[in-house]
Amino acid sequence: MKKRLAITLAAAFFAAAALVYLYFTGEGEGAGIPCVFHQLTGFYCSGCGSSRALRSILHLDFYQALRYNAIFTLALPLIGAYFGALFLSYIRFGKDKISGKIPMKAIWVLIAVALAYGILRNIPLFSFLAPVNLTG
Ligand SMILES: [Zn+2]
Repeated sequence: MKKRLAITLAAAFFAAAALVYLYFTGEGEGAGIPCVFHQLTGFYCSGCGSSRALRSILHLDFYQALRYNAIFTLALPLIGAYFGALFLSYIRFGKDKISGKIPMKAIWVLIAVALAYGILRNIPLFSFLAPVNLTG
């Protein structure tokens, strides 16, 4: 029990530290997570632009965040709610009582939407979905 609590608190600490680090580093300073898929293929995956979007959100620039990665920006409240509930579950019960309550159908829908987004943002007609820096 105490070991799980310590791991949970350590994970929360490192997540908070990562957000602080991301907030105080500028774009192109190496704070983002490089995308291996993009480096190998030149195509954008569903996650491309997510760390830049998160940095924009931390600076309250939500429009730029949407331009970097719309699906990540729109899903972030759900992601935050899930990890917040998971964190509280580990604090209160010492185990995950959240993940089993999420319907598999919802998970499959999210996976399908993410895959479709990853495909569409590489098609010229939907180039507005590709990660774009509006400030230069
Ligand atoms: Zn990517």
